[in-house]
Amino acid sequence: MTTLRKFIENCNIDAEIAYDEPMARHTTFRIGGPADAFVRPRTADALSALLTAVREEGVPIAVIGGGANLLVADRGVRGVVASTELLRGASIGRDGLLRAEAGLPVVALVRLAQESGVTGLEFAAGLPGSVGGAVYMNARCYDREFADALESVDYIGAMAASVSSTAIERDSWAYKRTPFMSGGSLSGSIVVAASFRAVPGDRAAIASRMAQLEADRAAKGHFDYPSAGSLFKNNRDHGRPTGKILDELGFRGRRRGDAMVSPKHANIFVNAGGASAADMAALIEDARSAAREAFGIELETEVVMLGEF
Ligand SMILES: Cc1cc2nc3c(=O)[nH]c(=O)nc-3n(C[C@H](O)[C@H](O)[C@H](O)COP(=O)(O)OP(=O)(O)OC[C@H]3O[C@@H](n4cnc5c(N)ncnc54)[C@H](O)[C@@H]3O)c2cc1C
Repeated sequence: MTTLRKFIENCNIDAEIAYDEPMARHTTFRIGGPADAFVRPRTADALSALLTAVREEGVPIAVIGGGANLLVADRGVRGVVASTELLRGASIGRDGLLRAEAGLPVVALVRLAQESGVTGLEFAAGLPGSVGGAVYMNARCYDREFADALESVDYIGAMAASVSSTAIERDSWAYKRTPFMSGGSLSGSIVVAASFRAVPGDRAAIASRMAQLEADRAAKGHFDYPSAGSLFKNNRDHGRPTGKILDELGFRGRRRGDAMVSPKHANIFVNAGGASAADMAALIEDARSAAREAFGIELETEVVMLGEF
């Protein structure tokens, strides 16, 4: 730990740095033990310098955005957790593109689009997390996904020290599948910014659609408890939504300690107070084995597990 601290200090990066930082403070689940080093670069160049330094030294690194799709282990994360939180720039250029840095909260992106009279992003009103996380996950709601609105993504490649740009090839993006994920052509790359088509729209109509979707999320209980949204993917091969499968298995309200299946939606698992990651992992396993035994279905988690489980 002293060595890691010395190493990070010697990197001399323009960043906010904390050691033994509880990840519960940085996840919407409010769950997670300490990251050895928690680094928030203030610029994309600083993020790039950090990535280069840790890769050269062989220090493990995980990059996170809003922590809205993460279950972090109780024992925490060894090495460095880099957060894009301070990379929040956004602008509309003469090229007709709305460009946002990775750490900009999606809700701020959507608000900026509305204020600028840009349509096409209102589907993401009320979606927790950052632009970078939404691109990485190809976040999807109300029948639209990020890939539908994206024009290009700026990223730092797995072995690279500088920023490259890739145009969106729609065929490489699918339901909760992106080239940035493991096995994809850009696996190991870090998103630093994204450009969206700035299609002109009516401000009042955009605002009204946003309000409608925000109200729908609230009515569905999305913000009643800390959660990470849907726990499992909706695999179309299963013939019905995962929430329905878990309902049939009587999972609504099911608990392991303070880890609980939402009483309003069986595919949303929540922290009902002081849930540990171990409680949540046990509840996830309960659901997976019940679906396997009853229906022969393998549920796949959408939530990303991070750290020492
Ligand atoms: C109440 C609630 C409702 C939700 N509703 C929805 C919904 O309707 N639809 C939906 O799709 N999701 C939903 N989610 C889940 C979550 O909002 C999305 O998955 C979101 O896109 C995660 O973004 P994030 O910045 O929080 O990512 P994080 O949770 O920080 O990270 C998630 C993954 O992305 C990677 N990542 C993050 N930033 C970068 C980057 N810059 N470069 C490369 N990789 C990166 C991380 O390494 C990790 O693997 C919901 C969550 C909550 C809490």
